[in-house]
Amino acid sequence: MSRYPAWICSPCGRKHGKKLPLLASYHIGDCGWCGMEHVSVTEPRDFGYPDPPNKRRGRGPGKKPAMAHVTIRLPRHVVDRYPSLKEMRDDWVRYVEELISGTEV
Ligand SMILES: [Zn+2]
Repeated sequence: MSRYPAWICSPCGRKHGKKLPLLASYHIGDCGWCGMEHVSVTEPRDFGYPDPPNKRRGRGPGKKPAMAHVTIRLPRHVVDRYPSLKEMRDDWVRYVEELISGTEV
């Protein structure tokens, strides 16, 4: 089983690549080197198969961004509306996720 990533973005290709591509066909995808998502990527072959990112310290492929901890303090009358802590948490996680996705538009 090979862990060699399928796609690489142009900045990583220039940084890690063994050659520059004469011709590269880019599409939107996730870079296996820096982990950037929805960027312009191409085949590692176009850069002469750079060393796989596993050997590099720190940011490997598919590494998820760190989760932020958010503390929300709710007034008692809001808390009392929820039958359980779990339902309250689920509701507010949904709310925060909607806020986050709203900023991307
Ligand atoms: Zn990259």
